[in-house]
Amino acid sequence: MSNIKTLASCIFCKIVKGEIPSFKLMETDSILAFMDIGPIARGHCLVIPKYHAEKLADLPEDQMADILPALAKIAKAAGNEDYNILQNNGRPAHQQVDHVHFHYIPKPSADDKEGLGVGWPAQNLSMDEIKKIYEEVKGKLE
Ligand code: 5GP
Ligand code: ZN
Repeated sequence: MSNIKTLASCIFCKIVKGEIPSFKLMETDSILAFMDIGPIARGHCLVIPKYHAEKLADLPEDQMADILPALAKIAKAAGNEDYNILQNNGRPAHQQVDHVHFHYIPKPSADDKEGLGVGWPAQNLSMDEIKKIYEEVKGKLE
């Protein structure tokens, strides 16, 4: 676990260090995948970087490489036709554990009984308004 930053008080860092148990699905040098203990669907699991970072933007790029392949491998192996990959950042955005994590959440049916329910408050913006926002975001990326 060289170059892996951990935080003593973090529940997911404790899982990484084996200080608390988990149902481990996959492990590489930089990620761990395990079952979620509060699943919202059968097969709900998590992929986390071992490196402690609170939000995605805090995670060093060299700790990201294994995350998407792990999620894809789990999705292929699990074989659910429909599923969501979810990554929450901040309390208003439903983040409860302050260590970056990606949810793999099967969506077995269209109703809200199992799996992710998503509110989608589409904003009614004109093309001019979208262009203005685009220029703002693009400017920050340059
Ligand atoms: P968030 O709302 O932060 O995106 O999701 C945190 C997830 O972590 C929840 O789905 C919750 O059930 C799960 N979780 C919280 N504590 C533990 C734990 O100690 N072990 C495991 N395996 N999952 C946990
Ligand atoms: Zn942590």
